[in-house]
Amino acid sequence: MMTHLSNRAQSAGREPAGLDLELARKYAVPGPRYTSYPTALHFSEDVPAAKLIEDAGLDGASRKPISLYLHLPFCETACWFCGCTKVVTKDRGAADRYLDYLEKEISLTAASLDGERPVTQLHFGGGTPTFLSPEQLRRLGSILHKSFRFDADCEASVEIDPRRLTRDHIVALHEMGCNRASLGVQDNDPAVQEAINRIQPAELTVRAVSWLREEGFRSINIDLIYGLPLQTAESFGRTLREVLELDPDRFAVFSYAHVPWIKPAQKIFDKRRSLPDAERKLALLNLVVETLTGQGYDYIGMDHFARAGDELATARANGTLQRNFQGYSTKGGTDILAFGMSAISQSPRAYRQNEKELPAYYAALDADRLPVARGYFLTPDDEIRRETIMRLMCDLKLDLPAMSERLGIDFRDYFSSALKHLKPLADDGLVRIARDAVAITEKGRFFIRNIAMVFDAYLQQQRQQEGRYSRTV
Ligand code: SF4
Repeated sequence: MMTHLSNRAQSAGREPAGLDLELARKYAVPGPRYTSYPTALHFSEDVPAAKLIEDAGLDGASRKPISLYLHLPFCETACWFCGCTKVVTKDRGAADRYLDYLEKEISLTAASLDGERPVTQLHFGGGTPTFLSPEQLRRLGSILHKSFRFDADCEASVEIDPRRLTRDHIVALHEMGCNRASLGVQDNDPAVQEAINRIQPAELTVRAVSWLREEGFRSINIDLIYGLPLQTAESFGRTLREVLELDPDRFAVFSYAHVPWIKPAQKIFDKRRSLPDAERKLALLNLVVETLTGQGYDYIGMDHFARAGDELATARANGTLQRNFQGYSTKGGTDILAFGMSAISQSPRAYRQNEKELPAYYAALDADRLPVARGYFLTPDDEIRRETIMRLMCDLKLDLPAMSERLGIDFRDYFSSALKHLKPLADDGLVRIARDAVAITEKGRFFIRNIAMVFDAYLQQQRQQEGRYSRTV
């Protein structure tokens, strides 16, 4: 279906009127994205794996629904901006070996689970899930379906790279139960694509979308990144117009995270001095928001956009939106069971992460052990702050009496210091603080991470984040 851009969106290449460059400069500091609290930097190898596994209800004790995550790490080439944990190879046989080990990890886990627990959510991430051949995908589907009981209404999503995709990949994914797809696009501009080492002609994305629609996928998301090398408001405005023509149900528009001390491939951007500065980056975000909301998409949380009526927009409207390692999600109240190298699982009181390198991941399974490498047990204070930060990032406001009741605290009293630290942000117009509520303003939406950071006990204790997180703007 074709969309027709409003005049407002078409002229969006100009600098947005409401943009406050002073604030952009002031708030462009390193900070977490809060897909978990505390962040993965706090996970420790000293936490006993056996205790983490016990907390996950793998002794059959828990009855909660399950959200499955499968990390499929292989990519044929490396995109230089990429912050994912991946393995770059052209050897398709690597995926056969990986599947052998995934099968073992899944069967060790499923053997100690209450088999009646329904799987309500399934996500294939990477890396590139479609690096696997259609046959390899079908094998993975059959491993999962013989190991778990899937809810009839399960939301099953997959990240797709349109570059090396065949129609049979889509058929295989649909057979496995996938009903949602997320297409990696990032930017359609050829110069930007060359600068990031990801050549992806727009026709490949168009073809992937039409295959997905023909196979009956319920929801299509397009991933874009702003803040990439050589991006300008004009070039990114063109990309936005082109992808809007595909009429996706959702967009995820991520801020490029520049962390060359963790991802050395990103150093090339510094060498070429090709990255937009904080001001241009914020102008790009402003352009995205104006363009997509101008076309009827709801702006969800930090970086998602969804058509009104989409489940994500509905969850936002009724206050049930969640945030986890995959970003924003509609299903709360689940335990996350994650499989594959580096995958992070979440139970009510703990996080646990698998070995990050293939040899260590394989060695643990060869020894008949679950490949848990590190983890974290939340303290009662962590649980209170996690809920507070999650509600802020999902709802953009905190109802203080409701939070007090939910958390069993006097919110104003418990967070008196945080509320004091929030005052300068209120003075800058980013939040409104009333007796019973804290609300992020329109201007403050660009600085959600900065606002959430005020409630982060670890950042307040040690303000030496430089070299640990990407910049918030
Ligand atoms: S962006 Fe996707 S395809 Fe590119 S290297 Fe990262 S995981 Fe692989």
